[in-house]
Amino acid sequence: MLESGQVWVRKRGADRIRRGHLWIYQSDVLRTENATPGAIVTVHEEKPPSGARDAIVGKAFYSSKSQIALRFLARGEVRIDEGFIRNRFSEATALRAKLGVDPLFSRRIYSEGDFLPGLIVDRYDDRLVVQSLSQGTDRLQPLVLSLLQDQYQPRSILLRNDSKVRQLEGLQLKQDLVGDPLPQIILVKEDDQEIAINLTEGQKTGAFLDQRDNRRAAKRYASGRALDGFTYAGGFALHLSSVCSEIEAVDLSAGALKLAKSNVERNGLKNIRCIEANVFDYLREKHGEGVRYDTIVLDPPAFAKSRDQVPSALRGYKEINNRAMRLLKDGGILITCSCSHHLSESLFAEMLAEAGNEAGRWIRVLERRIQSPDHPVLMTVPETLYLKCFILEIRG
Ligand code: SAH
Repeated sequence: MLESGQVWVRKRGADRIRRGHLWIYQSDVLRTENATPGAIVTVHEEKPPSGARDAIVGKAFYSSKSQIALRFLARGEVRIDEGFIRNRFSEATALRAKLGVDPLFSRRIYSEGDFLPGLIVDRYDDRLVVQSLSQGTDRLQPLVLSLLQDQYQPRSILLRNDSKVRQLEGLQLKQDLVGDPLPQIILVKEDDQEIAINLTEGQKTGAFLDQRDNRRAAKRYASGRALDGFTYAGGFALHLSSVCSEIEAVDLSAGALKLAKSNVERNGLKNIRCIEANVFDYLREKHGEGVRYDTIVLDPPAFAKSRDQVPSALRGYKEINNRAMRLLKDGGILITCSCSHHLSESLFAEMLAEAGNEAGRWIRVLERRIQSPDHPVLMTVPETLYLKCFILEIRG
């Protein structure tokens, strides 16, 4: 029995679900009955417009701690049992097959985007990395593990439950391993590149799978002298190596650069220099030296970690984009990204237009891109679209 407990919410909360979102906040919860932390509960609307005493909104994970009190699995009166969850897993697999996503190296389950809120599963060949971000998915862990064992027979499953957002749910931060010990590095195959990553220490679950298609797209436009700002394991630089004459791959973190260097060597590439520097300073320095580039990639970490950080994040994004635009030759290509989900695509675009005006350059938009399709976006859950990637031609 996966379901237990009842929660009553006000109309405002129920309306949110009717409009297609999957969350109801704590402030819209009126009362609960037998709703234990992480339970799958039946959600009722108090005094629905139909005049009935109450009406069922749907079934959701209940969190006793988070501001996001309810994360919906289904609308209406649907029974949530093992078969229901198994079906969600199959749907996620079927979607990726339809989209032509690499079955060996990809995100197999993306939380709300796959109607399994709080659960992330990434596959790196015979290793799986699972993140549980809510009380509900923690409670479901035995079932999740058994479904993954059945489907993939992985050598190891790493439970990377060390994401800070778990603290909002009152959950412990920890890593657990099921199965064989993990090697120091895992090789991810991306087209003709082999990229080494570290699953236990790496950022996210190890690789930035969400940028895979954007790295490929960047290759279609890049040429000449290039700068890969915020390179991490060298992702963009490795892809651009065959179309650019020389590439400076810049990152602040010594650990990231070590990975990047090993990846450059592993792929036998001669035209990438890995440079340990702060991108803000580096761009300023290069401007001072009068250097000009044909291609610049900017893929910084999320500058806005919360809504109130958006204004200062925008200043940061504008500074690096303005500097990059000034460093590009006439007709140069800027591939610029933001993975802050608090920053909408339109705010990001507005910031880019301002940065261009202040740099005295025209910007022609060649592509407006998002995260790879194994991170599906729900139109009515804007939080699922977090990665923006614009490919711009800088003129004048
Ligand atoms: N482009 C990469 C992912 C980048 S992740 C890919 O495609 O895989 C962001 C990276 O920015 C991290 O490696 C982090 O170490 C680095 N970073 C953060 N702030 C920085 C700064 N001010 N200057 C340089 N690198 C920075």
